[in-house]
Amino acid sequence: MLDPIMTSASSETAIRVRIAPSPTGDPHVGTAYIGLLNYIYARQRSGKFVLRIEDTDRTRFVPTSEQMIFDSLRWLGLGWDEGPDVGGPFGPYRQSERTEIYREHADILLNRGKAYRCFCTPEELEVVRKQQIAAKLPPRYPGTCRHLSAEQIGQNLAAGKPCTIRLAVPPHGADLTSSTTFRDELRGQITFEHNNVDDQILLKSDGFPTYHLANVVDDHLMQISDVIRAEEWISSTPKHVLLYKAFGWQIPRFWHMPLLRNLDKSKISKRKNPVSLIYYRDSGYLPEALINFLGLMGGGMPADINDGTEQFTLAEMVEHFVFTDIRVGGPVFDLTKLKWLNGEYLRKLTPEDFFQVVRSRVFGDDYLRQISSLMQTRIETLAQFGDLTSFFFSDNVIPPQDVFLSKKRNLEETLNFAQDQLAVLEATDWTHDALEPALKKLGEEKSWSVKENFMLLRAIITGSTMSPPLLESMIVFGKARSLDRIRRFLEAQKKLAAQKK
Ligand code: GLU
Repeated sequence: MLDPIMTSASSETAIRVRIAPSPTGDPHVGTAYIGLLNYIYARQRSGKFVLRIEDTDRTRFVPTSEQMIFDSLRWLGLGWDEGPDVGGPFGPYRQSERTEIYREHADILLNRGKAYRCFCTPEELEVVRKQQIAAKLPPRYPGTCRHLSAEQIGQNLAAGKPCTIRLAVPPHGADLTSSTTFRDELRGQITFEHNNVDDQILLKSDGFPTYHLANVVDDHLMQISDVIRAEEWISSTPKHVLLYKAFGWQIPRFWHMPLLRNLDKSKISKRKNPVSLIYYRDSGYLPEALINFLGLMGGGMPADINDGTEQFTLAEMVEHFVFTDIRVGGPVFDLTKLKWLNGEYLRKLTPEDFFQVVRSRVFGDDYLRQISSLMQTRIETLAQFGDLTSFFFSDNVIPPQDVFLSKKRNLEETLNFAQDQLAVLEATDWTHDALEPALKKLGEEKSWSVKENFMLLRAIITGSTMSPPLLESMIVFGKARSLDRIRRFLEAQKKLAAQKK
């Protein structure tokens, strides 16, 4: 049986930590939270903070996402010592540039009998999965290819059959190695029985690694001493520990941080809270306030700091934060509290600094330039500028019913259609070329005319039936804020409906 304390990174190892976000969309507040903790941990221990981009899942890859991750983490003041854009001695720091390394490592595991080739087709796997679900069994690979002879494997390869490479999780039952135990620095020993651990795919048939293989190989090669990540990865950790053992590598310390939660304690989600860092930046939150707020999640800061005001700076967090004081119960991401805190930070500014913040963040040159280009042909006196553009500068735009409800539609079908618009817009690139056909296609599917379709969206976004061109306005206003506006509209309508009942 593994002795986790013996195999964990020893206290003398140089401290190196990392965050490893996947560029799959807008950067998430959860990434900022984990980034903050890694940053503090490294700075407290004269260690290195590494940013690694885990971009091996090509189906979810969003090209603009990586730059947004860089921008939003820097905006928060969480700079890194090594990463794709700043380089460093352990690069490349983008996993898509390291695929050869993963293939070589998968071969090592094959040669040692710690992994095996699987020739099952997606269709065959789907049949098994359905049977397991019908029998109320957890979906698991049944081990079909685990004991193929060298000859069978040779024949399959010669026939050009595509294959994946799977982790050979040790056999369970009476065997001594029937479970894997590791130490979580916040929770103590955690044990997983192997009959609950799937023979995970390590290398896909396209030659790209899965998260598990790439993550472990990189954490080892980048000499990561402490893996500080979100709680949702705990169930992956036994697979990782098996991989470290299969390679014969030292296992890092694991710290699984509590998941941020909505007010109702469910895992934080965009349905209940804005989760995009771009949203917070563009909606006028100050980075100091957001960092302070994230530092309040889950404990770690002594309660009496700054007379118990709950207000502290990043530098004060580096000075006082105690990792072992983190509480594992899910901290609530309470937007009301964040707003209060942001207000406190706004009031701390000198009048001149406040003015400068307003000028750059509410009336920034770029923003005004884009808005004025929409207005030049639409006004007769400059004083009218505000009439059609106030929605660009307001936070709370909830149109009254007579503005958003067409005479031909009832409330229920209108709100259902707005919900469909939201789903389509969430999945659409924020460009005119992508937005227009996506919305029109939805309208055709649901038999809403272009006019009705755009009128409803115009009412939700601008609060009015008259505005500068809608799609151009939404592009200037930004995806994160536009989507938030639709979500808030739907939320407000739900509340109104509940009050009427
Ligand atoms: N790529 C994973 C993510 O998106 C990294 C998880 C980890 O830190 O191991 O969060």
